[in-house]
Amino acid sequence: MSLPAGDTVVTYPDGDLASTGTVLHLQPLDDGRTAVILDRTAFHPVDPVWPDQPADAGVLLVGGRSVPVVAAVVGATDGTALHVGDAPVRTGTPGWAFVVCHLVDDATGIEQGATAAVEADPELRRALSAGHTACHLASLALDDALAALWTKEVPLDGRGRPAFDQLAIASSRILPYGSVDEYRIGKSLRKKGFAAAELPAALGEVTEAANVLLAQWVAAGDDVAISIERDGGGLGERRRWRADLPGGAVEIPCGGTHLRSLAGLSAIRIQLDYDTGESSLTMRTTVEHV
Ligand SMILES: [Zn+2]
Repeated sequence: MSLPAGDTVVTYPDGDLASTGTVLHLQPLDDGRTAVILDRTAFHPVDPVWPDQPADAGVLLVGGRSVPVVAAVVGATDGTALHVGDAPVRTGTPGWAFVVCHLVDDATGIEQGATAAVEADPELRRALSAGHTACHLASLALDDALAALWTKEVPLDGRGRPAFDQLAIASSRILPYGSVDEYRIGKSLRKKGFAAAELPAALGEVTEAANVLLAQWVAAGDDVAISIERDGGGLGERRRWRADLPGGAVEIPCGGTHLRSLAGLSAIRIQLDYDTGESSLTMRTTVEHV
């Protein structure tokens, strides 16, 4: 069975929950599961290189059978081997094909060339899309609220504020209706001009300012249109989250899933915890929805 030569076409960036494709490849794994690769899919996989958004839950429908997808990860192949969730290169590296690996416990009846429909769980998808959308908005609000703590010129975010999020982010985890971001406030950030010593005393004020801004954006509701800009349909193509915020459109590179607008949300709030010993700032974002 030959390995896929091109990327899986992914339709989840536009919000699709269901798709129909053709089985291109099946790869048995050491743990007894099987990775099923289709030419196109609506199923969002986790990217082990930057595992911010968890995979969708859902099923494959093949030959009248409904097969639970127990996990979904980004796979990569250079034509010699298929790396399932342990690619030695970043997603998008030229010369590699990036594919969605749908992992199933029992691949009985799934054959190369078969037609396979994909159905992702809509509740989980909406919860994670809300969490991911809120995560981006929270990062912009945090950049805004921390702007006064910068003493030197640094790269700016999409709203023209010093890009604290981009410069300090260590990890990001998308949760159902929320997210947790960890920022490293180490020597290099201080050298770039971040007044870390002032942060403990300013934390309450910064949190409040960010939450006021988030409340303004949530109040704009469906006026805040959100879309994904992308150069092509392949999994490895670069994608950008774009939000029409009051004051102008903002773009952030992102491969995840998102809401189409802020309609239906009643609040997005952040909470900040600064651990001076660990030099780490934790931002917990929560979404309240109708
Ligand atoms: Zn995103």
